[in-house]
Amino acid sequence: MIELRSDTLTLPTEEMIRSITNAKLGDDVYQEDPTVKELEAETASIMGKEASILMPSGTMANLAAIMAHCPRGSKVLVGNETDIFIYEAGGASVCGGIIYEPIKTQKDGRLLIEDLNKVFLNDPEDPQFAIPSLICLENPHNKMGGRVLPISYLKEVYGFAVEKGIPLHMDGARIFNAANSMNKPVRELAQYANSIQFCLSKGLSAPIGSMVVGSHIFIQKVRRIRKMLGGGMRQSGIIAAPALIAINKMDKRLAEDHSNAKRLAVGLSVIDGIECDISTVDTNIVFFQIDKEYYSTKEFIDLAKNKGLNIAELGSGRIRAVTHYGISSEDIDNALNIIKEILNETLC
Ligand SMILES: *Cc1c(COP(=O)(O)O)cnc(C)c1O
Repeated sequence: MIELRSDTLTLPTEEMIRSITNAKLGDDVYQEDPTVKELEAETASIMGKEASILMPSGTMANLAAIMAHCPRGSKVLVGNETDIFIYEAGGASVCGGIIYEPIKTQKDGRLLIEDLNKVFLNDPEDPQFAIPSLICLENPHNKMGGRVLPISYLKEVYGFAVEKGIPLHMDGARIFNAANSMNKPVRELAQYANSIQFCLSKGLSAPIGSMVVGSHIFIQKVRRIRKMLGGGMRQSGIIAAPALIAINKMDKRLAEDHSNAKRLAVGLSVIDGIECDISTVDTNIVFFQIDKEYYSTKEFIDLAKNKGLNIAELGSGRIRAVTHYGISSEDIDNALNIIKEILNETLC
């Protein structure tokens, strides 16, 4: 099976598996797991922040970060196409008493300053209004096609947040993909956010986990919230050991995933019956659509699966393919052949 539904389906490398069996362990709720401590120090240093903390998932990482930033009854400004708003079960409202203020998302993943600013037009002294307490950005932006937010834009939004006196959290699930595609150290992107979460378990190929980075005081708050949410883990060095390999080695190979994504997009763009805009492919995510005169999206996805290609529907007839560790350029060529075959069959 050529598995392109998501980069969450990556399996750990041999070296990662070996690292698990050799990891030095302790109880991480006591903060005595040496491997977790090493991972947290190393992550903070790579991201250019004071501190970091290992979380069981990206969802809990975003939730704990939002709860650490936002008082109950305040508003978090979040893109209406983001993972936080759509795919995280409304956690900030349920657990934190925090209101989501969805902001219109541009095609390239940006939220316009003009749209963010509208939320601040209410008089903060007027007790009717919930007070904005955090801006969230997603970078790269998954549903907008893995688009990378330009540094100039990050700087602009961060400046806006500073001006409004509130922090900025970046959902950087794939922030290493963004950094790699811009050929910049990840800390250059991280400097324009007060906190960042990134996933160890996507393109970086570790089996489990996410990291949150930020100031010492902020990470202390996240640590308390993590415990409250049930995410305090004990011998989590077995998660941290492969994660250390993920952050120190696996980011270097992401360019291969990006070139495979481009290869796929270029191949798709010349197939009759497929619509794919190659100019939007910044990282490892490719979106395309199938002409309804040939197949419905579901029919097409099922036929592909029968022929050994797994792709995903992501709403409104959009199909997503994600390249990752374990997918070669040959797999991409085979995937393209499968798709051509399916479309040729309709012509008979
Ligand atoms: C995957 C993802 C998450 C959530 O991570 P999980 O580990 O699956 O909970 C958050 N934000 C974005 C943009 C993601 O792609």
